[in-house]
Amino acid sequence: MENKKVAIIIGAGPAGLTAAYELLMRSDIKPIILERSNAIGGLAKTIDYKGYKMDIGPHRFFSKSDRVMNWWLNILPLQGTGNKSENAIEITYQNNNKQIRLSGSGPNPDEVDKVMLVKDRFTRIFYLKRFFNYPVSLGMEMVRNLGMMRIIKILWSYVKIKMAPIRDEQSLEDFMINRFGRELYTTFFKDYTEKVWGIACNRIKPEWGAQRIKGLSITKVFAYAIKKILGLHNADSVEHFLYPKLGTGQLWEEVAKIIMEKGGELHFNQEVRNIKTDNNRITSVQTQDLAFAGDYFISTMPVKELIHAMESKPPKNVVEVADGLIYRDYISVGLLLKKLNYQSAKTKGLIQDNWIYIQEPDVKLGRIVIYNNFSLAMLADSGKVWLGLDYFCDEGDMLWQKPDADMKTFGIEELIRLGFIHPTDVLDSVIIKEKKSYPAYFGTYDRFSEIREFTDTLTNLFLIGRNGMHQYNNQDHSMLCAMAAIDAILAGTTSKAAIWAVKAE
Ligand SMILES: Cc1cc2nc3c(=O)[nH]c(=O)nc-3n(C[C@H](O)[C@H](O)[C@H](O)COP(=O)(O)OP(=O)(O)OC[C@H]3O[C@@H](n4cnc5c(N)ncnc54)[C@H](O)[C@@H]3O)c2cc1C
Repeated sequence: MENKKVAIIIGAGPAGLTAAYELLMRSDIKPIILERSNAIGGLAKTIDYKGYKMDIGPHRFFSKSDRVMNWWLNILPLQGTGNKSENAIEITYQNNNKQIRLSGSGPNPDEVDKVMLVKDRFTRIFYLKRFFNYPVSLGMEMVRNLGMMRIIKILWSYVKIKMAPIRDEQSLEDFMINRFGRELYTTFFKDYTEKVWGIACNRIKPEWGAQRIKGLSITKVFAYAIKKILGLHNADSVEHFLYPKLGTGQLWEEVAKIIMEKGGELHFNQEVRNIKTDNNRITSVQTQDLAFAGDYFISTMPVKELIHAMESKPPKNVVEVADGLIYRDYISVGLLLKKLNYQSAKTKGLIQDNWIYIQEPDVKLGRIVIYNNFSLAMLADSGKVWLGLDYFCDEGDMLWQKPDADMKTFGIEELIRLGFIHPTDVLDSVIIKEKKSYPAYFGTYDRFSEIREFTDTLTNLFLIGRNGMHQYNNQDHSMLCAMAAIDAILAGTTSKAAIWAVKAE
């Protein structure tokens, strides 16, 4: 009979898997993961459709944390040079003003698919049926696309706002106008942001902008334009990111394998529905089938659902805040094509974008993903074009309710209207839907501290991850929260301060 302490982990996404992995590597505590779906990776999973792989929006693996970067590369080494004797790799590059040096032994030659690729990031905005660089950069291309009159208007509105900024920023709209001027904001940011969040930018809290677009400013746009004109722009300043050869979920599937090899448990199709507490501690959780007792409970399930699963009702104000939390949901149309109408000016082949942000206001399409440009190994036939058409929606709204066949037709028609494809180029399509993909910073979010005060009193409960903390975390932040939770458990502290201190940037 085993006498080990047990940690019950709710959810097999990046945060839950990281927590389990860290426990196994650093302690004797046995992790038992309960996952409501039958998939590994949560929002970072990869789905296989007839040999064509797609993600919930392919995930850029990039972190300012060396701990996270090394953790990823420990699971999937950097892709080698192809020459077996030259497997050791060292890559140095700049990303977000950080000098990154990656080194690795390269893959085992027998496991050539178990690798991280290093990708150049190339993203553009599509607006007025034209492509604009992203991040937005002033230059000849912009003048050609928008015309001189509009450029003058952009510059003038920027000068105006610098002379008389909005003093008390009340909304994301105020935040953006103060940084870019009204004209640039309406041209490049307003419609896309409203598609993502489903509400007007003047109803979104300015904190969202502070968190997500902190580093972006018009000063940088101007500096970039001047450098380009003077020929000082360094081609090496292209951003890079890591990407698993077989899709985002590949990394998490490898992590899950290690967890099981090392003695952790992972139970699929087990949805935590009921949580029992006693004397400021959680004692057990109940799924539709089974009860699991444990010493520690680590949750990545949406906070709203966690509060409702508590058998002893939390205080009224906490339930009220939980009820008012809002999420955005996600649909992607996977589309297999013979070809695209737009071609790369450089190669005359497929355009090289990873993502294309669709700013056009007359379509619902938010973003196009070109999987060919992430990894050709994700395509059963690399001679085809494999796209994801990303739609942001609310569970139950017009898009969400569309039967799959109608949603496919809808996506294809929008893409034809934008000039990307001819109807005869469509070979196949598939729909994926994901609930609660974006925790929103509106609704009752500004009262979130009331939930935190309550959950912090449950000494052996640790909230981590994106929906687990209702924070707009990327994978690395979700993982850092998991690591901080394990640090706290191993240090024997009941303080959750270090977990909440991990903030998304
Ligand atoms: C479109 C999109 C693009 C993104 N792009 C990037 C990117 O480029 N780079 C990046 O680093 N990050 C990106 N992210 C963010 C990344 O997906 C998340 O940070 C990460 O997946 C969060 O991990 P998590 O474990 O906290 O939550 P999740 O991934 O949401 O995992 C939670 C898991 O818990 C399970 N669960 C929920 N409730 C229960 C329950 N009651 N019982 C049992 N199991 C339950 C769920 O099924 C799920 O598997 C993106 C996200 C989206 C939606």
